[in-house]
Parts: sequence; structure tokens; C-alpha cells
Amino acid sequence: MPDYMRRWFPQAGLLSPAGLEFHSIAGASFRPANDDPLSPTSSATAPAGQRIHTAIIIGGGPAGTALLIAASKQKKLCELARAGLVMVEREAAIGGGRLGQYAITSDTTAATFLSAVKDNPYPELAALIDHPTARQIAHHDDTMGVPLAQVGPFLRECGQRLHRIVEDHGGDVLTGHEAIDARQRSDGLWCVRLRRVADGSERTLLSRSVVIATGGHQPLERLTHERFAGDQLMARAGNRLMQSDEVIELGGVERVRERLRDCRSPRIAVLGGSTSAMSAANLLLRATPALPLADNGITLLHRRPLRPFYPSVEAAHADGFTDFTHSDICPVSGFVYRLGGLRLESRELLLRMMGINGRQPDSRLHLYKMNNAHDPGALDILDQADLIITAFGYRPHALPLFCPLGSAIELAAQGPGRPAMVNRQCQVLDSTGQSIHNLFGIGLAAGFVPSGALGGEPSFSGQANGLWLWQNDVGMIIVDSLMRLSTSHLESNPLSHQHAIEAS
Ligand SMILES: Cc1cc2nc3c(=O)[nH]c(=O)nc-3n(C[C@H](O)[C@H](O)[C@H](O)COP(=O)(O)OP(=O)(O)OC[C@H]3O[C@@H](n4cnc5c(N)ncnc54)[C@H](O)[C@@H]3O)c2cc1C
Repeated sequence: MPDYMRRWFPQAGLLSPAGLEFHSIAGASFRPANDDPLSPTSSATAPAGQRIHTAIIIGGGPAGTALLIAASKQKKLCELARAGLVMVEREAAIGGGRLGQYAITSDTTAATFLSAVKDNPYPELAALIDHPTARQIAHHDDTMGVPLAQVGPFLRECGQRLHRIVEDHGGDVLTGHEAIDARQRSDGLWCVRLRRVADGSERTLLSRSVVIATGGHQPLERLTHERFAGDQLMARAGNRLMQSDEVIELGGVERVRERLRDCRSPRIAVLGGSTSAMSAANLLLRATPALPLADNGITLLHRRPLRPFYPSVEAAHADGFTDFTHSDICPVSGFVYRLGGLRLESRELLLRMMGINGRQPDSRLHLYKMNNAHDPGALDILDQADLIITAFGYRPHALPLFCPLGSAIELAAQGPGRPAMVNRQCQVLDSTGQSIHNLFGIGLAAGFVPSGALGGEPSFSGQANGLWLWQNDVGMIIVDSLMRLSTSHLESNPLSHQHAIEAS
């Protein structure tokens, strides 16, 4: 029995591969997997007519498609598709996800977004640099980021071309399908149950590996347990709460305006020190028509010091910013606060508020650094606020997962606190901290922390949620694992090898 299975089969006698394949698990009835209408191929371990894919990527948003971009940059996309790749996306198209649905500007530059296609080895991707959606982004090259609403169309256009390349080379992109759950069989293969959105029909796919790229959210339940400044946040704030995602998405400012319509001089408390917190404050300060904010109308309460990004130590010093040490500098890039620093608009707002290099603070905003677990000053600000915006980050959506015996696999990320979903090889971790065999995760709230050759400041302890990393180094960690899986399988299974040669 492989080692990764032992924890689920402490007694070897329990292992009963044949009897476990298609039975009811946690109330869900699996239909025989050979109803897969995708091209049937031979395999040593699948029922006749059932194809075994190399990888199923669940979620075709910016992170799922970032894997395809990463592979394309290394000229491996066709190979990956041929190896047996399936991407499953609930929406009608891949590429966009939620990123284009925000009303804020990006915290990455126009050039960074365009680097996905610029000089890409695939001509149809490289040509996108002249597409109107790319040109629109390029207009913002010298500015403080790109409106995310303009990034969406570009990502969808990339998605469309990636879709075509994958399908032209033997892979499948199943749009309009959602993955319901995944179960690992006793032989290590994954059974992924899918539902077609249009008619609710179900089918099951078999794969050697699964990549979870289902994005993240701000679960409301989390707030019920949240303590803030020494008190229960929900009890104290009641119906004055709003989560930052609701504020910064398109239409969010109008919702805030509506909630504050009876306040002549509203007070808003923003809780958190992340980009989302600063972006929410920024958006409200810039609202047109302006919100009737008096001095200190918005207070942003943060636990950790707020830090600005700098491209080098020299640039920081030239600006008169010296609040960093050696451990805040990325050893690979030389950037100061490369991962933990605020960027572009949020950074500029912070620098203004810090009065760096003669900048003038915005009197309507007050930055309040909380002192300790019990902070009466912070509670006072909460009590006086007409609206309390929580920006406590995102948690992964993930997917119900089951082990061969049918019990649910609990993920580390479902535990208390904010544990990461993945380790440094992008492998998903179970609640004991062990990696789950051939299950990978990428994207918003996956919790990946770069290290080693990937760089990042040693002092950084949060999550790295950025497209560039996913489209390059982080994406390649997963792509390389998937490619290894496909070739190691070919070495041990001459039947499938034959098929791969025929298909290529
Ligand atoms: C406010 C905000 C601003 C950001 N700004 C930037 C920025 O400027 N630059 C940057 O690089 N990054 C930014 N990010 C980080 C990141 O790029 C975005 O969050 C991005 O949308 C994450 O992509 P994703 O694919 O992980 O998630 P999503 O965008 O949520 O996409 C997930 C996809 O999976 C699909 N899906 C989910 N569940 C299933 C299922 N069961 N079956 C099938 N399909 C499913 C969804 O339909 C969706 O298409 C930002 C994040 C936030 C929250």
C-alpha cells in the first residue's frame, strides 16, 4: 500500500479497491465513472472506456489560467494539454474570474499584466499585445495601477486563446461545469464529480491529479468568532458591519452611500492593514460625488505596521524612508517589502499619511495603530462609527474532498486561525499538516509563501496573492509536478504511452 494511503487505511485488511469505486459518499451518490463522454482511451486501472486524465484544474479564473500562461511561457502548454489536461469552470468562459469585478485599481502595474502575453512563444498569445483590451491596459503604464474592471476583458481574451490552444492539442476545457467534489480512490486516482450548470446533469472524471483553483471569499461565519480590540466584534458592531469585498466590488460605493444616507457627517471604521483595507479607504475618499466626510471621517485601524513597497534600498532612502532592516529586503530582487509592502495607489495613500518626502496627508483619513489585545481607544472608535468595514483577508473556497473509505478529508485551511491551504510545493495540506497525494492548490487565499529562489523578504509572514507569481515561478511548480506525473505514468504504463504517441 502506498505511504500516502496508510493514514486512511490503518488496517490493511480494510482496503477493498473494487468495492469502493462508486458508492454513496457523504450522501452523494457516484454514478459509474465510465459515463465520461470525453474521448475514451485504454488504461490499466480504469474501467473499460474510461479515460484517465493527468490533471483536472478546477477553476478557470486568473489563477487556474495562470498555470496555462506559466506553461506557455516555457513552451510546455501543448505538451501539458496532450498529457491529458482538463480545466473545469463554472462560468461560460475562462480567464476572468472575480478580478475584473472590482471597482478599485490594481496593485500590479500595466506592464506586469501584459507580461503574460508579451513575447509569449505562442504567436496567438503574443499577438494579444496589440488587442484593444491590452492597449487599454497599456494606457495606464505610467499611472497608479489599472482599473480592475479593465483588466477583466483582457484576462477573458487571454482565456479564450488559451482555451483554443488546450483543445487544439488534446486537452479539454469544460466551461459551464462545476466540480461538486473529489474523491481519492484506493489506487491514488482522483474521481471528480461534475455538474453541468445548464441542465444539472452529472458525470465523473478520473485523473491522476487535481488542482484546486477555486478562488477565495470572506466567509461571514468567520466574523461571528472574531474578537477585535478585546471584544466580540459582531456583538459590538451589530448591523453596522460590511465586509471589504462588498465595498470594493463594482457598485460597492453606492451601497455604502445608501447605508450612510441619513448621516450628515458619517464616521467609518475600516478594520485591517491589508491592500483591501487601504483600497476600501481610498475608494471612499475618491467617491464621486464625494461622501460628506469630515476630518477623521474614516479611521483605518491596523494591528501590524503599514509598510510601503520600494524597488530598492536607494529608492527608499532617496524618498526619506528608512523604516526597514535587512530582513525586510528581498535577497533575490533587492526590493524593500516586496511581498508585505503596499503598492501603487494604496502605497501612495500611505506615503501621504506618513508625510513622506513632503507629501500632504488627507485630513479625512486617520490611521490608528492598535496597541494590544485590549484597546479601549479602538473600541471607542468602533462605537462611534456609523459603518464598520472589515478587511480580514480571504479564505479558500476549496471543494469537498473524500478519502477512499468515504469520509471527508479535512484541510489544514479549515482549522482555526488562518492556516495556509498549501505548502511550498503548492501541495494541499490536510488537517494534520501532511500533503495530500497529487492534490495541488493555487490562487486567492491558497496561502502560498514564496521562499528560497523565489525570493521575498524574510520578515514576510502573510499570503502572496499575485498573478505574476502564479503565471511564472509558482505556476511552474505545479506545471512541473503535473508533467512529471504524466511522464512517470508513461514509463510505468506502456499502454498509455502508446496512446500518447498516437495522440501527439
Ligand atoms: C480586491 C482584490 C484585488 C486584487 N488585485 C490584484 C492585482 O491588482 N493584481 C494581482 O496580480 N492580483 C490581484 N488580486 C489577487 C488575485 O489576482 C485575484 O484575487 C484573482 O481574482 C484570483 O484568482 P482566482 O482564480 O484564485 O480566483 P477567482 O477570481 O475567484 O476565480 C475562481 C474561478 O473558479 C471558478 N470556480 C470556483 N469554484 C468552482 C467549482 N467548484 N467548479 C468550477 N469552477 C469553479 C469560478 O467560477 C472562478 O472563475 C486581487 C485580489 C483581490 C481580492
